[in-house]
Amino acid sequence: ISEKSESEDDVIVLGAGLAGIGATLTLQKAGFRTRLIEAKNQPGGRIRTVPMESLCLDNCANPIDKVIIEAGAQWLHGKQNQLYMEALEIDVLSQELSDEGLGSYTKDDGRILDDFFVKMIDFKIGEILEECETFYFAENLEEFRNLSVEEFLREKFEKSVMPSIEPDKKEDARLLLEWHIRFQVIDNACLKLSEVSARDWGQYSFNGENCQTHINFKNGFGKLINSLVSKIPSNSMEYNCEVIKIDYGGDLEDGMYKVRIETADGRVFKARHCIITFSLGVLKASMKTLFEPQLPGPLQSLIEAYGFGTINKIYLKYENPWWDNDWEGVQFIYNDEMAVIGIKDQGTGAPLGSRPKWLTTGCGLFSREIEQKLLNLI
Ligand SMILES: Cc1cc2nc3c(=O)[nH]c(=O)nc-3n(C[C@H](O)[C@H](O)[C@H](O)COP(=O)(O)OP(=O)(O)OC[C@H]3O[C@@H](n4cnc5c(N)ncnc54)[C@H](O)[C@@H]3O)c2cc1C
Repeated sequence: ISEKSESEDDVIVLGAGLAGIGATLTLQKAGFRTRLIEAKNQPGGRIRTVPMESLCLDNCANPIDKVIIEAGAQWLHGKQNQLYMEALEIDVLSQELSDEGLGSYTKDDGRILDDFFVKMIDFKIGEILEECETFYFAENLEEFRNLSVEEFLREKFEKSVMPSIEPDKKEDARLLLEWHIRFQVIDNACLKLSEVSARDWGQYSFNGENCQTHINFKNGFGKLINSLVSKIPSNSMEYNCEVIKIDYGGDLEDGMYKVRIETADGRVFKARHCIITFSLGVLKASMKTLFEPQLPGPLQSLIEAYGFGTINKIYLKYENPWWDNDWEGVQFIYNDEMAVIGIKDQGTGAPLGSRPKWLTTGCGLFSREIEQKLLNLI
């Protein structure tokens, strides 16, 4: 008895994040029968625009709860890409560009570092990282094989920047270096900058543009996702459909179909080809049971060897803003080794306790321009 299959397509795309949506649209446009399968009940993956009210534990009567926040990606980077053109066409982009590292660089004791000094260190660190970018294009590329970005940055900073810093500013300069290292950890989504290769640093490019712009959406990235998904016929999309087995063994009854996809709710889909867009973390966790037969050894080793970190966003909501409208934010200047927060109990003067980990790994807080009662910590 032949197995019942929900559908038989040219291509099945697994995962309805941006990569899966893009692949599906491209293939459908080229005339291939393409099906998009997603585990969750919505598309977007790591792009997720949510109304504040869905995150509120208490009642949501307050107008602020009606605003949207970005739980995942927030910015469109650069204009030289198709996504920008799509966004422009449906008029979902805001005129406002964002920058990072804005606001006052403030120490534990509340002292704000001199703006000129902060910018000077920022410039010097930028120069060092630019030098690091050249390694990838160097003839002696392999000489940098074991060098990490953190090692190079620290060494070069000590040798070429520190000697010119006045003695009473040296400590601040080093604390600013720590801020930049934290920033790079977040920007590169790694656990430590010592795990990022100096040799390959130059491989990163900004869509052919000289520098990276952070373009905001008027009402969230989700609008663009919804618009793209609306171009995919609904009968070729499956939600709530977690894939548990990808059988590409080739001994399917019907020789036309080379891939058999099995889902948690017992459905089966067949296709000639399959594109998998699951994140690295999903592949690391499930590849041993997901694929039949197992992926080739070198590919498994590669998936195991690649690392990634976590980027989390924390929104702080206040009943009333305690900052001015033109306040850009605050960047935390502290040393990770300092265990106790400088803030003291107003009555007893005792330190309020250890700084929580989520705070020490963050760079700073900035206010949400569109909603003045939210502060965002990345
Ligand atoms: C907090 C945060 C902020 C970010 N900020 C930005 C930013 O400002 N700008 C920017 O460009 N990028 C940003 N990024 C990165 C960006 O979000 C991702 O690079 C991008 O969304 C990845 O898309 P993807 O389609 O490759 O993967 P994903 O979005 O992860 O899509 C994979 C899909 O596969 C589905 N899936 C997984 N397992 C299964 C299964 N077994 N069966 C079926 N479906 C499955 C998942 O549910 C998911 O929908 C940010 C990321 C985070 C986490």
